[in-house]
Amino acid sequence: MSGLRIAIAGAGIAGLTTALLLSRAGFRVRVFERAEALAEVGAGLQISPNAGRILDNLGLAPELDRAATRPEAIDMRAAQTGRIIVSLPLSRAAARYGAPYRTLHRADLLSILEQAVRADAAIELRLGEPIHDIRSAADAVAFSTPARREEADILVGADGIRSSVRRFVAGDTPPQPTGRTAWRTTIAADSAPEELPRNRTTVFLGDRTHVVVYPIRSGTEINIVAIVEEDWRSEGWSEPGDAAWLSARFRGVATLLQDVIAAGRGWTRWCLAGVDPSGSWQRARAVLVGDAAHAMLPFLAQGAAMAIEDAAILARMLTRQNTGLDAALERYEALRRPRVTRVWQAARQSGAIYHMNPLTAPFRDTTMKALGGDRLLARYDWIYGWRQTG
Ligand code: FAD
Repeated sequence: MSGLRIAIAGAGIAGLTTALLLSRAGFRVRVFERAEALAEVGAGLQISPNAGRILDNLGLAPELDRAATRPEAIDMRAAQTGRIIVSLPLSRAAARYGAPYRTLHRADLLSILEQAVRADAAIELRLGEPIHDIRSAADAVAFSTPARREEADILVGADGIRSSVRRFVAGDTPPQPTGRTAWRTTIAADSAPEELPRNRTTVFLGDRTHVVVYPIRSGTEINIVAIVEEDWRSEGWSEPGDAAWLSARFRGVATLLQDVIAAGRGWTRWCLAGVDPSGSWQRARAVLVGDAAHAMLPFLAQGAAMAIEDAAILARMLTRQNTGLDAALERYEALRRPRVTRVWQAARQSGAIYHMNPLTAPFRDTTMKALGGDRLLARYDWIYGWRQTG
């Protein structure tokens, strides 16, 4: 089995995690990454326990704990008044779900994964080698890199939202813009407003907007993401954002939120787009993981988490395969699609709930208060408490 030739397109969170899990399962893996060096935007990432448990099992807990912060709670606040609507307690997440709820800088997670990959003799990481011209071969898949023509028994498409492997697997399925943008930045904690709690995640719910703020890098930095409904598209997905425009968009909200926005520097503006998870995820020995298969709205902070879960299930299916590789890939798709689709849809619904207008928002707030933080958190048990099955 370890003689299987496995190639991975893309060295993002999905590709690197898949490589590590396949290596631990006894396979040799080649990872082809388009970029010359692995770099990430200056932005944070929440890693929920369902994904954290998989990374911990890879032996990465010490590095993650050094880089990450564990917020005590998620405070949902009304953007207009700044008052807390409800707080979801996270400090018992590790006991409840088997791994902590961590927040960290994307670059730190990528660097932890890259170091683990580089220390692993069974993984060959090839940077600056985009793959293209993917074709079926006899019981294999062929593709090109700038250097040569390659072949693999399995090609894993971990090449993100504009995946080339998805084009081979599912035809022309471009990502669909969602009419929302994400404005992202990170700032030094000592330049954030004093009234902002440092050890908690804060979510401001506003009229067709929400803003998520949380600590990263052991609390020395703060990540800010402002989601705005606007029909902006661009050739790239990320461009510099105009701070004055953003401040104007948040005029009239609570002082705390205005101060958070004003503290932001170097905003990048992202067009949020999705990839419908109902398309094909595998064909002719090529298989998709992560955003390539199912890019989703970030409103439940589950895109990377689903990529990490995909990696775990794909590795398990390839390890257990006894009825052939094609059946293993079909089984992977069959196991993953229902869960990912549910999360994908729940993320979309969260957008509708978070962005209620001033007429309907009071009903939402009353319901949240009545439920209380513990019961609200329990509604996500199916996400955070997920265990591998199958
Ligand atoms: P990518 O990160 O896009 O990686 C794809 C890689 O493939 C890249 O390195 C690219 O260079 C490479 N590549 C592309 N084409 C080729 C090719 N032809 N050949 C070789 N290499 C190629 N998720 C969470 O779990 N928690 C969060 O808190 C969270 N917050 C988010 C906030 C925002 C604003 C956004 C937009 C998303 C958020 N997400 C979050 C989602 C998460 O960022 C993504 O789901 C995740 O990064 C996807 O990882 P990936 O490896 O699948 O894709």
